[in-house]
Amino acid sequence: MEKRADNIKSRLIAWLGRVDGLLLNLLFPEGVTCLCCNRAPKENLEDGLCEACVQALDALAAQQEVRRMKHADLPENIAFVCAAFPYRDQARTLVRTLKFKRMKSAAVPLWRAMLLLPSGDEEVLVPVPTTKKRLKERGFNQAALLAHALGDALGMPVEEALERVGEQEAQASLPVDQRKENLRGCMRCTCSMEGKRVILVDDVYTTGATVGEAARALREAGAKRIGVFAAAQALEDGGRPEFMRIHAKTTRNDRG
Ligand SMILES: [Zn+2]
Repeated sequence: MEKRADNIKSRLIAWLGRVDGLLLNLLFPEGVTCLCCNRAPKENLEDGLCEACVQALDALAAQQEVRRMKHADLPENIAFVCAAFPYRDQARTLVRTLKFKRMKSAAVPLWRAMLLLPSGDEEVLVPVPTTKKRLKERGFNQAALLAHALGDALGMPVEEALERVGEQEAQASLPVDQRKENLRGCMRCTCSMEGKRVILVDDVYTTGATVGEAARALREAGAKRIGVFAAAQALEDGGRPEFMRIHAKTTRNDRG
């Protein structure tokens, strides 16, 4: 019955999509157009995505798998950094849709992909906090949104143990060498983390300056081991490394 209703709905949507995209949005404000490409596909959306974008995201996830961080590249106090996607194309669109269009549904494909990230014996998820100003503007902290969704799905507790101190300039507006300085002492831990193995959750991992500060605060609060789960990892050169495309196909098969 539900399937039949879905079928009728998707046909109606496809027909309406040809008539008028705007009318469609008025009639079905959510879950009609793909979160990434904004098309209204004939098929049903999967987590708000059309089939083509689901496949593109799978390919991006496979690319990211071969892009593991070497131990030497990790920020101080951080044992591992795992990201679900490289920060580009559809993955970048999803993060931007979540943050700047404030569409929480864009978090779903992100945290679903993060569920596949390898974790060990970690006990608690801690979201990277945002500034009070940003929280007020956006209405939510996207890192906390991801952490709670992951926590629910993995049956892991989430502790919003970190808070920002003061209002720093947006990291994205600063050159790499100034990012660390801008953030120094910007976070504190509001409770004891004594002996805990923690996964820090963030939306985008860029230079590691933000999670480095978060890890320092957690370490001061007694955390034993700290790793990072990010939805996406920015590319070092902002471009598209050749080796990823070469390896994408082979690793795709290993994902199971
Ligand atoms: Zn799409």
